[in-house]
Amino acid sequence: MTTFTHEEIEHLIEEDCCHECEGYGKDKVCVHIEAIAELPSRFGDFHIVGFSNNQDDKEHVAIIKGEVLGAEDVPVRLHSECLTGDVIGSLRCDCRDQLEAALKKIGEMENGIVLYLRQEGRGIGLTNKIRAYSLQDQGLDTVEANLALGFRDDERDYAVAAHMLHSLKVQSIKLMTNNPKKIAELERYGVKVSERVPHVLPTNEHNIFYLQTKAAKSGHMIDFHGKPHLVEQSDHTLVEGMSDLTESQTKALYD
Ligand SMILES: [Zn+2]
Ligand SMILES: [Zn+2]
Repeated sequence: MTTFTHEEIEHLIEEDCCHECEGYGKDKVCVHIEAIAELPSRFGDFHIVGFSNNQDDKEHVAIIKGEVLGAEDVPVRLHSECLTGDVIGSLRCDCRDQLEAALKKIGEMENGIVLYLRQEGRGIGLTNKIRAYSLQDQGLDTVEANLALGFRDDERDYAVAAHMLHSLKVQSIKLMTNNPKKIAELERYGVKVSERVPHVLPTNEHNIFYLQTKAAKSGHMIDFHGKPHLVEQSDHTLVEGMSDLTESQTKALYD
């Protein structure tokens, strides 16, 4: 169970709501904790923390397990919103598998945080992401589709995430990622990363199907003309016993 008490919640919101800071990153983004509630879920008992920010109307959230205020070595996963993957179960990406694996893993831990960042389609928004999909359907590769629609502003993601972690008074984190670059980015914003934990997806019915489909339908349903599609979460997939889908693994699956 989470150990947030009502008093702690009230105190945290009160303390945070009026804080003044210079803001993080080049956009000087500042976030404020607006509301906290319990969130029992199929992945465990969490608290959910809603944040507002000074840049736009995006409501970022932290999904928290256990005691994290002032804690060290808190397992943390950053997840970027993906409506098509997270909600609809799209096979164009593996965002849902990545999110579920993170929630399940943290749900079983003593404490941990999933930061759910509302930067749909790498910050370009849902409609632009659909446009990018459409361009890819027509044969453009990731880079071309991106050029046609504008690049993702990566810096901002980490700035928001870093501020959220500071607002939650997390002292240091164990970042669940397959991407060591993320660590350097977070550290630039003053987050102490004590360890990297590889984010490995356990093999399950879903991602086996996903990977098989990805392999079998490559060049048809998912990767038209065999070109790479948009990577929405910045991590590569690592699946237990399969690791990343290399060319030889793709071939093995296909065979
Ligand atoms: Zn601030
Ligand atoms: Zn996705």
